[in-house]
Amino acid sequence: MRVGVPHFGNVHVPLRAIGQRLGASDKELIIPPPTSQRTLNLGVKYSPQEACLPFKLTLGNLIEACELGADTLLQARGTGICRLGYYAKDQEQILRDLNYDVHFVTIDVSHHKLASILQLIKRMCNDASWPRIISIFRFGIGKLFALDKIEKVVQRVRAVELEKGKADQIYRDAIGVIDAARKGKEVKELTKQYIEMLHRVPQDPTSDPIKVGIVGEIYVVLEPFANMDIEVELGKLGVEVRRTMSLSRWIKYSLFLNPLGIDEWKEVHKAAMPYLKRDVGGDGWESVGEKVIHAREHSDGLIHLAPFTCMPEIVAQNIMPATKEDIPVLAVLCDEQMAKPGMITRLEAFVDLLKFRRRRKGRR
Ligand code: SF4
Repeated sequence: MRVGVPHFGNVHVPLRAIGQRLGASDKELIIPPPTSQRTLNLGVKYSPQEACLPFKLTLGNLIEACELGADTLLQARGTGICRLGYYAKDQEQILRDLNYDVHFVTIDVSHHKLASILQLIKRMCNDASWPRIISIFRFGIGKLFALDKIEKVVQRVRAVELEKGKADQIYRDAIGVIDAARKGKEVKELTKQYIEMLHRVPQDPTSDPIKVGIVGEIYVVLEPFANMDIEVELGKLGVEVRRTMSLSRWIKYSLFLNPLGIDEWKEVHKAAMPYLKRDVGGDGWESVGEKVIHAREHSDGLIHLAPFTCMPEIVAQNIMPATKEDIPVLAVLCDEQMAKPGMITRLEAFVDLLKFRRRRKGRR
């Protein structure tokens, strides 16, 4: 079996760790090349025109995995209100039409998520014992938690560092070394080391950076290629990003705490209630609630990231102007037509507006 996987933020790091612990070689677990313009071109060429960007980019990743010899492909499946439920079926058909003899294995991201993942690992490691499977899984997700912990510090340092790009360089190095780490203890030590390195980056002590919340559909929020590295670009403009969503948070709650009745979005849904009373698929409900919360917590502005044609985020986008909690919102629609210079110009104008509002309120 030669398993190919699509990219999604840093998810390749735990997948590689799990694959290595299962004894899979690089030919048996195929991580395609990082998502690139070529990936996008492939996805756009073979997807229905109206498909959302996550569909096109993950299809591009899977085609690149097939080119490297993958015969089994991993994809998410869901039973929510949006198109995610059709991804695997449609992509499988497209790949068969392209003459790739592939088989899809899906992970249920709507129900029984933990069981779905553990059963998949069990299948891939010839029915190893459950304690071994759990230990392999813990090692893999430990790397993801470590990277998200480092990234939280990066989001703060980027905004105030004196030499722009230093925090991102450290973060890139951290991803590389944590990806290569072979032991859980090593991952913990590296996390501590890299966080200390970030704290040592020379910073402007007088700076009170503009704070911007990032909300929207999870894939475009967490996949830097899809959002054109928006957090890095905001950092260059001296903006501190506040983002609730992360892969480690999704794992912590969806796999472990939701089944115990703990709902991480309870407060967010409550905040959205006066404007939207029910799930509209994807992350639309959360986007509305997060707007209200960012306004209450005095963020300076909000960036709403949405794939073009994403129904849940279109609903959210249309409700946001009606909330009484006021905060400037920049809606960024992500698709293959988006160009980086245009996006940077919009970010610069938005940040200027936020600075102007601060000055008007008497803050620096
Ligand atoms: S939430 Fe939006 S972008 Fe994500 S799969 Fe559903 S329709 Fe597509």
